[in-house]
Amino acid sequence: MGPPGAGKGTQSARLVAKYGVPQLSTGDMLRAAVKAGAPIGRQAKAIMDRGDLVPDDVVVGAIGQRLEAPDAANGFILDGFPRTVAQAHSLDALLKEKGLRLDAVIELVVDERALLARMEMRVNETIAGGGVVRADDNPLSFKSRLEAYRAQTAPVSAYYAGKGELKQVDGMAPVDAVSAAIEAALADR
Ligand code: AMP
Repeated sequence: MGPPGAGKGTQSARLVAKYGVPQLSTGDMLRAAVKAGAPIGRQAKAIMDRGDLVPDDVVVGAIGQRLEAPDAANGFILDGFPRTVAQAHSLDALLKEKGLRLDAVIELVVDERALLARMEMRVNETIAGGGVVRADDNPLSFKSRLEAYRAQTAPVSAYYAGKGELKQVDGMAPVDAVSAAIEAALADR
């Protein structure tokens, strides 16, 4: 968990390499659906572009389906899901149905003032690498994404903290130090 620009994607990629389990990112799934012109994508595109959250049933359905894939049989990293307390409840139900449990919930704690600059850095790196900049990586949408995080996703941290499952890591530290702190959090459970 963590607001946009906290480093979830970067750290997830490292965990994928280390543990050989897939990263299940609802944002990536939705962007793929938009690109493919799939019905879910058509429903989600405008919402995503302006930085709001897509409806819970859309992402819960997508995650439920994705968890069935063979590559998720030995574990997975959830990135960007759950983002509302209702999604967290749906995830509880999905995991229970499958006889699974979360090993850990990790939150990257960051200074919000640094996030806009991080987003701008990502945009510049994408342009320099010849890639396509995300439609929601602009200051206006970014502001909405941050507001959505504060209003709808911060309560999810509180939900997991209440269950004693939340591990907070300093997301302002250098990338390698954040990875080390995540490893320590995973070992300490
Ligand atoms: P992300 O790649 O995680 O930053 O997600 C990009 C956008 O996809 C978000 O701003 C939302 O519009 C949408 N999205 C991704 N995951 C979720 C989710 N779990 N619930 C609702 N909307 C989501």
